[in-house]
Amino acid sequence: MIRRDKRLERKIARERIEILLEKALKNEDLFFARRYVELAMRISSKYRVRIPEKYRNMFCRKCFTPYTSKTSKIRLSKGVKVIKCLSCGHIKRIPYKVRRLG
Ligand SMILES: [Zn+2]
Repeated sequence: MIRRDKRLERKIARERIEILLEKALKNEDLFFARRYVELAMRISSKYRVRIPEKYRNMFCRKCFTPYTSKTSKIRLSKGVKVIKCLSCGHIKRIPYKVRRLG
């Protein structure tokens, strides 16, 4: 029996996730972009690899659409950044720190 190298598998998974997300963000066609994000999410859960921090808030968790000016709406209110997905209506809230002036 061949022993699986889990560390190597996870390393490859991380690379594939990065490639897929880069492709998703560059692709104009939403059908393919969504598919790339979906695959990246699946790889992430199967191999228990986290989605890199920089991509974390760049697509919709629900319908996998990458956020662009056409597919999302961003509003700031009371220390929370609200991102609304225009294709499924999913709302994501990200808190941010308010810096006091003076
Ligand atoms: Zn969505």
